Amino acid sequence: MQRVVMKFGGTSLGIVANLTRALALIESRLARDAHAPVVVVSALSGATDLLVRFADVPHERTRLAEAFTERHRAHAEAAGLPGALDDALADWRVRAAGAADRPMRDATRDALLASGEMLSAALVASALAARGVAARAWHAGIAGLVTDDRHGAAHPLPASRARLAASLPPSREVAVVTGFVGQTSDGQTTTLGRGGSDFSAAWVGAALAVDEIEIWTDTSGMLSADPRVVPEARPVPELSFTEASELAYFGAKVLHPKTLLPAIERGIPVRVLNTARPQDPGSRITAMAAAPPGTWWVKSIASRSGITAVTIVSSRMLMAHGFLARVFEVFARHHLVVDLVTTSEVSISVTLDDTQGLDAALADLEGIGEVEVRSGLAIVAVVGDGAPTQVGLAGQVFSLLGGIAVPVEMISQGASRVNLSFVVREEHATAAIRLLHRGLGLESHEPQRAPTR
Ligand code: ASP
Ligand code: MG
Repeated sequence: MQRVVMKFGGTSLGIVANLTRALALIESRLARDAHAPVVVVSALSGATDLLVRFADVPHERTRLAEAFTERHRAHAEAAGLPGALDDALADWRVRAAGAADRPMRDATRDALLASGEMLSAALVASALAARGVAARAWHAGIAGLVTDDRHGAAHPLPASRARLAASLPPSREVAVVTGFVGQTSDGQTTTLGRGGSDFSAAWVGAALAVDEIEIWTDTSGMLSADPRVVPEARPVPELSFTEASELAYFGAKVLHPKTLLPAIERGIPVRVLNTARPQDPGSRITAMAAAPPGTWWVKSIASRSGITAVTIVSSRMLMAHGFLARVFEVFARHHLVVDLVTTSEVSISVTLDDTQGLDAALADLEGIGEVEVRSGLAIVAVVGDGAPTQVGLAGQVFSLLGGIAVPVEMISQGASRVNLSFVVREEHATAAIRLLHRGLGLESHEPQRAPTR
């Protein structure tokens, strides 16, 4: 490849064994590619939490400043780089000591929160230098990541593309850029929101039009099921952006693919890789990774529990118009977010994830029809681009479930080309997921042939 972005998360940098691996990964990338990788870093694990507390709780600052300093000093020492952060930590002490005795806000707060990423960028750059690799640490804002001024939730401006490209031209020097951080056009530090380093990596990668963006983290990609439910769950090697989004919605917490959108939109593949197990293939997320025609490809079985179903039956509504509109108007008015929907001529069932506001809504729904509420449910989603539209998938799923006598309460198929979802009682979800994981062949990653009829 010509050039890639490598983003390392907090646990990849904050544990000495992982940091050492990360450095070796950067070096081997440098040896293989035409140009040095651009490295985007998070703060060391736990560092941003300390800084948030420091910003919010003035009377704990002395203790927190000491803990933050010691975390970085000791980590540098354990990594064989004693003294590497002395200058950066001296700056930090001045900043910490100068804090006014009140909770921090806006620009002041963001400048402080950026300290975590600034220190880890300094650490990585000096660790590379100690290995004889040319490297330079960058505050992302100074490198050109210009944002609006919404402190704590800043968004990069289009102008930052050209600026990043100008200050980070292809070269043999590794640029180590702070994730999570940007700056306004008048030079004030901003932050992009918690977990924002993935977004930084995608934005920088898109601006530089790199060949690939690697997100190095602590799992080997997005998995075919929750490993606590299915011990033999495996990383899914290829995912489309939509599939990854569905999985994230169902709680695959590796990363939210929305944060990768800037890269995916520009057709740059994103790989999720495990720093502690770099030999694992991980997951590759692209705009499209469709199964070949005539095959389906179930990627993952996801689920979400704590679901409530609400059914409204109204025989008065038979042949009348406006029934669904009235029902949804009530949900909207009470700010209830509806997930699955199934309807018949005289009834509608919806599922809700968050029932705050439901009691008030029920009073209104009772004016429309008879209402039944069932809680303790789970949505199980069979996720795979194109899978739900394949002949035979639904048949296979529900005959498998019938075989272990798991009653299915609601089914939703077809609206999304990506997932076939159904609702079961919470206590049946684990058995259903394990069975489908095996029965749909998710242990192997070959696409399944559609049955010929
Ligand atoms: N360090 C920041 C956080 O903990 C950003 C990131 O790690 O993505 O939220
Ligand atoms: Mg993260």
